[in-house]
Amino acid sequence: MRYSSKAVEKLVGKYQEISILGKISALLGWDLNVNLPPLASDNRASQEAFVTKLISQRWKDEAFVDTLRAASKEKKLTDHEKAIVRNLNHAAKYYHKVPEELIVEFSKASSRAFVAWRAAREKADFSIFAPHLAKMVQINRLIAKHIGYKNNPYDALLDIYEPGLTASECKAVFAKLTAGTRQLLTEIKKTQTYKKSIILPEAEYALESQKKIADFVLNKIGYDFKAGRMDVSAHPFTTELGRGDIRITNRYDPHNFIESIMVAMHEGGHALYEQGVDEEYSDTPLEGGVSLGIHESQSRFWENQVGRSREFVNYITATLKAFYPEQLAEDDARTLYQKFNQVRPSLIRVEADEVTYNLHIALRFELEEALINGKLDVNDLPKEWNKKMKKYLGIVPQNDAEGVLQDVHWSNGAFGYFPTYTLGNLYAAQFCHAMRKEIDVDGAIKTGELGIILSWLRENIHRHGSVYLPSELVLRITKKGLDPSYFIKYLNQKYKSLYV
Ligand code: MG
Repeated sequence: MRYSSKAVEKLVGKYQEISILGKISALLGWDLNVNLPPLASDNRASQEAFVTKLISQRWKDEAFVDTLRAASKEKKLTDHEKAIVRNLNHAAKYYHKVPEELIVEFSKASSRAFVAWRAAREKADFSIFAPHLAKMVQINRLIAKHIGYKNNPYDALLDIYEPGLTASECKAVFAKLTAGTRQLLTEIKKTQTYKKSIILPEAEYALESQKKIADFVLNKIGYDFKAGRMDVSAHPFTTELGRGDIRITNRYDPHNFIESIMVAMHEGGHALYEQGVDEEYSDTPLEGGVSLGIHESQSRFWENQVGRSREFVNYITATLKAFYPEQLAEDDARTLYQKFNQVRPSLIRVEADEVTYNLHIALRFELEEALINGKLDVNDLPKEWNKKMKKYLGIVPQNDAEGVLQDVHWSNGAFGYFPTYTLGNLYAAQFCHAMRKEIDVDGAIKTGELGIILSWLRENIHRHGSVYLPSELVLRITKKGLDPSYFIKYLNQKYKSLYV
């Protein structure tokens, strides 16, 4: 990349080490999830802690801080240079404003909270986790205080994951979204199709076949296996180890052939974003996706807007039947389309369908915002959780393992993360609406020629990496700010023709 400012050029040079250390840390994390022998977790924890310390030192290095300050004062920067300085100031805020003792305490307390959460979930006993969760809330409130905020401490936490997003914006979005979703769900539940719901057969779907189908769809959507790989892990994820090394993981359930296809498209969507960033941005503060919300829009786009569409299921039906001739003997494209899109209020977020998914997020958002603001006591959390499950989904968990203890996020101390899942769904629908004005999306999916769709995403989203803030990107592409009505309209169109 060319620079007009010597200070910015020097800054990017210094940042390179932080970027490389970040990828080494990510590689340790990938290996932990994919390969680690059971007795190696202590070794890995000390290795990760050491790299984390090096990264923190680089952010606080005096020469780096001085260069960042000098670059921030420059008046005549190009748009790229402005974005570089903005991104570094945003990321540095955490290291510069939060005292190191608190960062260390947070890291130790969250390791203990994670262990307690796992035990609590296993025993379905919230009381094991409660004191650790209280500690996580307390530390997050302190972090918010150090980072600073105008109206709501939760804003400071949201901003870590989705720069610029505020609690009041979230509240407005969720109010509109939950109203629209609950109305649709009520209508769906009255239909004959819903009442005669299909039960997936207990058939076995060979794992080697599932793996081959996952490879097939990844090749179809344009994932570059020469710059990545797919492995197996308990919880699927994507990790960025450099422009030429974007890895994904999958998981295979012998009784569910749909899940591994959807995981491949979801994680593949994250990976395509990273594989499509302008190569010039490698190892600079412009590399990688701009926020968790925009990232999730790319995964949800491929998983839902493409993967669960009537056109795609039509396209892939012959392939599926060839792999599973006996198991799917009774099925055609129509019944498979229904199986890919079954709506059913359920207890577990990660198993939720497109219609009910965001209701799971809405309740988490409301609860964590109340916790951070001191309006909800940790000990009352399970009761409030169940109340909101009843209100939004009409069902109540039998125990806390399938309720308040199901997600790992709070044990890691991540508050303000959940809303980005919903943002992803909303951005995906809004982007897709814009895309449809320019290209024949259904036609491309119908024939399996998905290159034109990937090109659109590359041109409008991927190549920019972290140049534009999420709000700027949405405005550039759709000429409007974030608007949940695109998603509500998409759901209504799709599910009212499915459920009659
Ligand atoms: Mg994701």
